[in-house]
Amino acid sequence: MEKLIITAALTGGLHGKQANPALPEQPGEIVDAAVECWNAGAAIVHLHARDASGRGVAEPGIFREINEGIRGRCPLVVQDTTGDAGIPVARRILSLDAAPDMASLNMGTVVFFVPGPEGVAEVDFVNRRSEIEAFARAMLQRGIKPEMEVYSPAMFGEVENLIAKGLVREPYYLNFVMGVGGMGGYPGTPRNLNTMIDQLPPGAKFNVSGIGKAQLPMCAMAILTGGHARVGLEDNIYYRRGELAASNAQLVERVVRLARELGREIASPGEAREILGMDGVPT
Ligand code: ZN
Repeated sequence: MEKLIITAALTGGLHGKQANPALPEQPGEIVDAAVECWNAGAAIVHLHARDASGRGVAEPGIFREINEGIRGRCPLVVQDTTGDAGIPVARRILSLDAAPDMASLNMGTVVFFVPGPEGVAEVDFVNRRSEIEAFARAMLQRGIKPEMEVYSPAMFGEVENLIAKGLVREPYYLNFVMGVGGMGGYPGTPRNLNTMIDQLPPGAKFNVSGIGKAQLPMCAMAILTGGHARVGLEDNIYYRRGELAASNAQLVERVVRLARELGREIASPGEAREILGMDGVPT
């Protein structure tokens, strides 16, 4: 098996410090958390930008500050989100001007159920085919590697559409986002993950993200099945039931230990670039 690429999803755009005070929100905190995760064994960081109040934004200037801050201190592969709910597509495409190495690319529509003080809010996360193609085209033009976010087997049709239209390049990189709470989410069970893996297109590699309590078992499955693994406070704020995680790096450290026990070596950022075919990609 190839070495394990660990992605750390540091902050996200839905919950903030009220959910876990260790979650970084401002650029300086995000850069510090990224460096800690690199020291712990991560090869890629998945990033969101927030404004001074902590709200998710698609400002290229904030993304650039974070990306350059990280690049000034370590060789991590920088992956910016393109997926914040509620921000118009045109603005989100402009955030690619911050020149990340990679960017997330959502492959369909879900409605998140977000628990809050006044009950559960439904947050629409609409990604139409025309929008997905526009993002893919913009990434191709800029030499940014897309990570295709697949939330359920229903979304493979969009992966196939991008491949058929030549809008993504091999090796295709898919992220199976398992256990999203909401409409269109797919529970994070071993059986469901195997259903996803069975449908992987030729020439594709996969990463696995488990949301909430699915994070740990899905990472273990990813290690065993030859996939790659994502952890971090965006996806899961707990270390174990009832105990908040102390930091993003703590979650990375656990996956590193698991992988080593199971005989899987950890990829450096340079090795991750090689595995994902990012060496010759113009930037
Ligand atoms: Zn994200």
